[in-house]
Amino acid sequence: MLNVITIPVTLYEQNARLLIDESSKQAVLVDPGGDVPKIMAKLPEDVTLTAIWITHSHIDHVSGVGDVIEHVSLPSIEVIAHPEDTINRDNLPLQSQMLKFPYSGEFSVTQPCVAGDVVSVGQYRFKVLHTPGHAIGHVSYYCENTDNQYNAPLCIAGDALFKGSIGRTDLPGGNHQQLLASIRDELFVLPPETVVCSGHGPNTTIDSEKKYNPFFS
Ligand SMILES: [Zn+2]
Repeated sequence: MLNVITIPVTLYEQNARLLIDESSKQAVLVDPGGDVPKIMAKLPEDVTLTAIWITHSHIDHVSGVGDVIEHVSLPSIEVIAHPEDTINRDNLPLQSQMLKFPYSGEFSVTQPCVAGDVVSVGQYRFKVLHTPGHAIGHVSYYCENTDNQYNAPLCIAGDALFKGSIGRTDLPGGNHQQLLASIRDELFVLPPETVVCSGHGPNTTIDSEKKYNPFFS
């Protein structure tokens, strides 16, 4: 089974997520936005963290990446993000300064990912969906396997889509029309029962957002 553990971190209540393959005892960490000790406390001792997956490099999503790499003392840990996300990453010192948000330091992406790529945690394969609009180089990660606590396909949607809302588009690189198109063309085509794990707030489903999200109804 794939166990999804959601850990809201920092004042921004950003959802860091551990995805744990219970049989291979491998895990990935999506968007460690800070409070790294709080995140690592949720990682069982017999589970190995193999990768960090980034939806986009706004500071509230990646401020803890450097700390995680230090904490696990695994220089070989993969860090996965879209190539166009580099522009956000280069801005992190500025984001930190403007938002007075602590930043644990620079990190490198070891494995750039683009639309259609497949990334894995143990036996679970997630397809990379390119979902820009909230941020350049924003991606979502989709797993059609339903062997998880929701008994449904999963989409880790970052700040593209929220329960009853969508990501803000007033930050550098934001584009409202592009975000609407990303959601319509990349997310709303997923099976309706797909559980959407957003970067902030509660989970939702594709079906629920298609029916009730005010930006689309
Ligand atoms: Zn963001």
